[in-house]
Formats: sequence, C-alpha cells, structure tokens
Amino acid sequence: MERINQTLAQMMNRKEVRDAYESIRRRTLEHPEVVSFLKAHPELDETAVEVGFTKLSEYAEQMDGKKLIEEQAVIPGHQPMLYVDLGQIAIRYEETVKHRQARRQKEMDRKFKSLFLPEEVREASFESFDWSDDARKIALRESMRFVSGMKTRQKVNGLYLHGSFGVGKTYLLAAIANELKVADIETILVHAPGFVSEAKRKIRTDSFDSFLTSFQHVPVLLIDDIGAEAISPWVRDELFGIILQYRMMHRLPTLYSSNFSGEELETHFSIDGSPQNKMKAQRLMQRISTTTTQIELKGENRRR
Ligand code: ADP
Ligand code: MG
Repeated sequence: MERINQTLAQMMNRKEVRDAYESIRRRTLEHPEVVSFLKAHPELDETAVEVGFTKLSEYAEQMDGKKLIEEQAVIPGHQPMLYVDLGQIAIRYEETVKHRQARRQKEMDRKFKSLFLPEEVREASFESFDWSDDARKIALRESMRFVSGMKTRQKVNGLYLHGSFGVGKTYLLAAIANELKVADIETILVHAPGFVSEAKRKIRTDSFDSFLTSFQHVPVLLIDDIGAEAISPWVRDELFGIILQYRMMHRLPTLYSSNFSGEELETHFSIDGSPQNKMKAQRLMQRISTTTTQIELKGENRRR
C-alpha cells in the first residue's frame, strides 16, 4: 500500500500530470456557463464545488461537444443541465427543444402515408391553397369542415372532388392529409392506378390480406384519381367493393378525387355495360355517393 501511495505521489508530482489536471480545472471553472451557474448558487461553498467538480467538468466537456468520458458521451439531442440537489452539485440530461421538435415532426410524418404519389404532396396545405374563385372557395370550405369534424371526433361524410386535369384535386387531398396529421389523425393518400397494380401484384402473395386490411382500417382513406385505374370486375367488387363496404359499415370516411363526375364513374365501373356489370357498378357508386359530399373543382389548369 505504502509503495502504491508513493508511486501515486510521484506521478502526481510529475509536471505534465499536474499541468493536465490544472488545465481541466481551469477550463471547467472558467467555462462561462459554469461561472454563471456558480454565480446563481452562492450557497455552494468551496467544499461543495470540490465535491461536485466531476459534475462541473462533465458539464463543461459535454457542452463543448467533447466525449471525454466515453460512457457519458453526449446523448444525441440531449443537453446537460446543472442543478443543486440537497446542497450538492448534480447533473441531468434533458432533450433539447430542437430534438423534441424533430421527433414530433417524424411522429406526424408517420401519420400521413402517401403511396404512388410525388413527395411534393407532403408540402400541400390549406394555408397556401389558392381559393381565388368560387368553386375553389366551396371546395376549401368543405375540406376545412371535414377536417374540423374529424378533429372534434364527429361522424363526418367524406368528399368526392371532381374536375378536370390540373385544377388542384390531388393538391387539396394532400392538404387535407397534412392538416389531419397535425391532429395525429392517421391517413393514407393513394393514387388509384398505382394502388390497383400493386393489389394485382400482391393478390398471389401472403401479404395481400394485410395490404387490404390497412386500407380498410385507416381512419381516413384518400383515393386520388379514382377512375384512372384499369378496371375489371375483380378490381371493382373484390378490391374497391370490399374496402368500401368495410369502411361504410364502420363509418370510416373516404375521400376521392376524380376526373369523372359520379355518373361518368358509374359508366367506367360498368365496364362492358352488360346488365350484371351495370348493376354492380350502380351498387358501388351508391356506396361512394351516400358516404360523400360531391364537389366540383373548376378553374385553370395549374400545370402549365
Ligand atoms: P389535379 O390533381 O386536379 O390534376 P394537381 O393537384 O396535381 O391537379 O395540381 C396541379 C399542379 O398545381 C400541381 O403541381 C400542384 O402542386 C399545383 N397546385 C394545385 N393547386 C394548388 C394550390 N391551391 N396552390 C398551389 N399549388 C397548387
Ligand atoms: Mg391529380
């Protein structure tokens, strides 16, 4: 024991060790935030500072972004905070505002799934929605009514937005999904043609059931460009039919956009116009029209 103590004493005496220690000490006690912490706590006497020195130096190191103490390396997105606990200097780690905001943003983004649509749909909002003509004003008002109904947990009808190419139907559906995600309401916005091809690919696999279920169960489903998909009796009756039947029974709203009016969509669903197809088309169309408010979007083609 004596020998060890001697060796330690010799080591501590060594100039470079002393210098290193002195430099850490100085850096810590002169660190501007340590200085203001100590100033704010005049009750901490010399002994308390001596005892709590490792906390102060950990704080100073971490604030400077250094990872001196490996197992106490900066926790991503967390910042050390000094405080006094029963007269002793203590340290804790708190999530930074920036990190919390980024985490919240990620959480919200997960609420809004968009499939087979460009990434830009994530930027659509009511705020930047141009409502300069009357038809747009009505569409925006109905969309806002829908969103506030959802936020207040009312049973609300979906929307059926129809109008020609480029008037902003996809944009408005995307804006609705973005408004809902802020309220933590889950949505799927799906482009009908991509959805149908994907379903056809999946039908022979094990994942078809869970694929179907996710569209049946999502609190708000938005189907963009319905009528632009390649239609077949299977797509109409087993895909749309099954999903919409479930959603209607459980009063889960569905929103649509289409280049077709309701009547034109029914013709599209009739395929060859045979009596049986006509009847089935009518049945599906009834499900859509009784569960939605129909709005025509007019205006210039914004794609030019
Ligand atoms: P549609 O689905 O009716 O064919 P889109 O929603 O794709 O039309 O709109 C066409 C283009 O105009 C897109 O590039 C879209 O981002 C833009 N756009 C549409 N509506 C608005 C709006 N209200 N404010 C800003 N840009 C818009
Ligand atoms: Mg579109």
